Amino acid sequence: MKYNLLIRGCGIINGKSTPAFKADLGIRDGKISAIGPLPDAEAERVLDCPELILSPGFIDIHTHTDFTILINPWAESKIRQGVTTEVIGNCGSSAAPLCGEKLVRVQEQNKDLVIDWNTLGEYRDRVNIQGTAVNLIPLTGHGNIRASVMGYDPRPPGREEMNRMLELLRQSLEEGSWGISTGLVYPPGVFSGSDELVELLSEVSRFGGIYSTHMRNESDRVEEAVAEAINLAEKAGVSLQISHLKAQGRRNWHRIESCFRKIEAARSRGMDIHCDRYPYIASATDLDILLPSWTWEGGSEEELRRLSEPTIRKRIRDEITKDDWESVIISRVTTEENWKLEGRNLKDIAADRRLEPVDCLFDILMEEELEVEALFFGMSRDNLERILKKPYCMIASDASARADYGLLSRGKPHPRTFGTFPRVLGKLVRRGVLPLEEAVYKMTGLPAEKLGLKDRGVIREGAAADLVIFNQAKVKDRATYQNPHLYPEGIEYVIVNGEIVLEAGLQTGKLPGRFL
Ligand SMILES: [Zn+2]
Repeated sequence: MKYNLLIRGCGIINGKSTPAFKADLGIRDGKISAIGPLPDAEAERVLDCPELILSPGFIDIHTHTDFTILINPWAESKIRQGVTTEVIGNCGSSAAPLCGEKLVRVQEQNKDLVIDWNTLGEYRDRVNIQGTAVNLIPLTGHGNIRASVMGYDPRPPGREEMNRMLELLRQSLEEGSWGISTGLVYPPGVFSGSDELVELLSEVSRFGGIYSTHMRNESDRVEEAVAEAINLAEKAGVSLQISHLKAQGRRNWHRIESCFRKIEAARSRGMDIHCDRYPYIASATDLDILLPSWTWEGGSEEELRRLSEPTIRKRIRDEITKDDWESVIISRVTTEENWKLEGRNLKDIAADRRLEPVDCLFDILMEEELEVEALFFGMSRDNLERILKKPYCMIASDASARADYGLLSRGKPHPRTFGTFPRVLGKLVRRGVLPLEEAVYKMTGLPAEKLGLKDRGVIREGAAADLVIFNQAKVKDRATYQNPHLYPEGIEYVIVNGEIVLEAGLQTGKLPGRFL
């Protein structure tokens, strides 16, 4: 048999948490066709990698690459980390469906893109025309369904609206969505109650899909939020993935214990529950997450109006009890005048402007018409390690694909965007937080099992040839909060559907990814 590609002499980690072994690997027609000693095999191309480790390509089960893949199909920040498949559409927000008020808002937020689709099928066609370096697994954002039908109204849906939401969800699932995600801290997810969610999740369960949730609270009320997530998933009989599990804020760090207990009790009842986590102790999201949730009702215009009206502004001011303003770092603004704020913390900016930090927050939100992203330092390093060690925790970036050039190099994104997977393989494995094989399992076999993805995330004959070859002695992340656009080191080759997309650390320009 002649192979398209033959990889010789690697240490193979098969994605199942079992010890590495030495073997050759033959690839033909996009699939792994032989594993073992292949001394006489012929191939169009041979890679000799005796010092390197070969494992399944990483499955990034929590990402936001929905729109950026249309801006840049090469997905550099992910490919360079060894990611070969991304699960998009997380935290309640996906590229489809897009109708009504949701469509209007998404077009406003993505000025560099012409949004010419409504459905998942149409979005997929659009991506396929341009191509993609990574494989994509789409989830359906609950926020898309809700805002497409009822805008940003802070009320439960009527029966007609509920039926329309179910219809949009069903259509997405029929067109290839793998499940649903919620963002219950963001509008419009924040306005949704249990009846609505259980009805939608039951539909997902009928299709065998998963439920991924950015929970209603990740700080003072994180335990209630975990209980709510479990309760909803249990009622609907759906597989649950808790997104970026954390207990935010020093005063809440101890709460992680009882979150573990709740999750583990549900697992021992037979529920299918996992979580994902990025290996950093700062989170990243929109700056206006600091405002009380009632200020978001009715959409951005209403929110801005509230900030500009002195009496309402005072009421908001009174409700914000935050005191650690130095822990909030502006990471991305829209106006050129404020570019200098990127990378600086709110306490310092407020001191420069001779303002109270809370007023400075309001001013920046108004200047930028709410389009500001920030980093929030509030997580415990101990908890991070304990979460990552849990057998039900998968490694995921919670980031969109970016690059170190062009439109996708703007701002200061969270370093997890460029560093997540090499950071775990390098720093955390070397420090002994996880054995190498187990770390790889949490990036490959485990997310594949969660998704029911049978022929990826594992090295075996017949499986898709999504592979990464890395140097365990050299692998490390380089991206920092101040300098986040740095690609990692030590990821040598990345192969997607049998094609080499990264060779000796450089991208080949190939786009062999596809929707799964
Ligand atoms: Zn999230």
